[in-house]
Amino acid sequence: MSDGQSGSFRDRNHYDVIIIGSGPAGYTAGIYTSRANLGTLIISGTLPGGQLMTTSEVENYPGFPNGIFGPELMMNMRQQAERFGAVIVDDEVLKVDFKKRPFIITTHAETYTAEATLICTGASPRKLGIPAEQQFSGRGVSYCATCDGPFFKGENIIVVGGGDTAMEEATFLTKFGKSVRVVHRRDSLRASKILQQKALENPKIEFIWNNVVADIKGNNKISNVLVKDINTGKERTIETGGLFVAIGHEPNTAIFKGQLELDDKGYIVLKQHTKTSVEGVFAAGDVHDHRYRQAVTAAGFGCMAAIDVEKWLSERKHS
Ligand code: NAP
Repeated sequence: MSDGQSGSFRDRNHYDVIIIGSGPAGYTAGIYTSRANLGTLIISGTLPGGQLMTTSEVENYPGFPNGIFGPELMMNMRQQAERFGAVIVDDEVLKVDFKKRPFIITTHAETYTAEATLICTGASPRKLGIPAEQQFSGRGVSYCATCDGPFFKGENIIVVGGGDTAMEEATFLTKFGKSVRVVHRRDSLRASKILQQKALENPKIEFIWNNVVADIKGNNKISNVLVKDINTGKERTIETGGLFVAIGHEPNTAIFKGQLELDDKGYIVLKQHTKTSVEGVFAAGDVHDHRYRQAVTAAGFGCMAAIDVEKWLSERKHS
């Protein structure tokens, strides 16, 4: 078993691989690299465990026929990575230097160096930015229909957004909700024609055009929202048991700007398999994947990246 430190460098802060981020991608990668006897450090970030720490029950992660709570699933993954010797620090990366190897990674508390780096910093759902949003998050406000839809059986549901995600989520949510209303800030949709058509033709979906959600009300749980017509300024209250915010995601890549190739939306561009534009830097999970965004796919990407890291390090050792 590894002691968590690099075999070739015994410096306290030097590792074979540093994994930045601790969602399903980061922890899964950590399980694989530490089990492969690579000195592994996981820097967890501001929300150790990632987005699943803010969800309730996860019903679609394989292996848990009765479901599992998001925080419990993440604690299990964390313990599994530690079991094989991964060192985990609950700290935030402030700066990276990928210009030369070993790479330099600076956190609030320390400076670390690594032969290889694996970025698993994920993405964050874009927020509406209204004060009550945080208060009702997990109490009727959700950012993932696939994750939370089944908890809203028989409710009047509101979806915000006009992109592919909003259309897909609205359509999916008609399976559960008594009604689904889509609130969109314009009078036309950004979504692809096929997804638009599916939603527009669905008799259970009603569109509220040119409106934004201005406030969320309720006691312990959401009970209604205030929507505002952006042309007339007119406000009205709609009774609802669930508000799904589907206005896009933002990849957590601010610290990598200028160091790695990012696409026009800020996602990390992969060059070959899980390799980024910098030799020795790999990426996994929502930080490059804006399509699937599931815990199980992030974990799968984490596994793939760990195998790529291991192969890359071993090729360098023998070259
Ligand atoms: P998106 O395409 O960026 O759409 C975001 C939507 O939210 C837009 O309609 C936008 O309005 C609205 N919006 C943004 N900020 C807002 C705010 N502050 N208040 C109210 N509304 C706001 O995001 P997405 O739908 O999550 O899709 C992301 C990417 O994944 C896209 O490339 C998409 O094609 C892809 N995707 C594909 C599939 C699929 O092919 N099956 C499924 C899901 C996602 P405006 O239109 O006015 O800008």
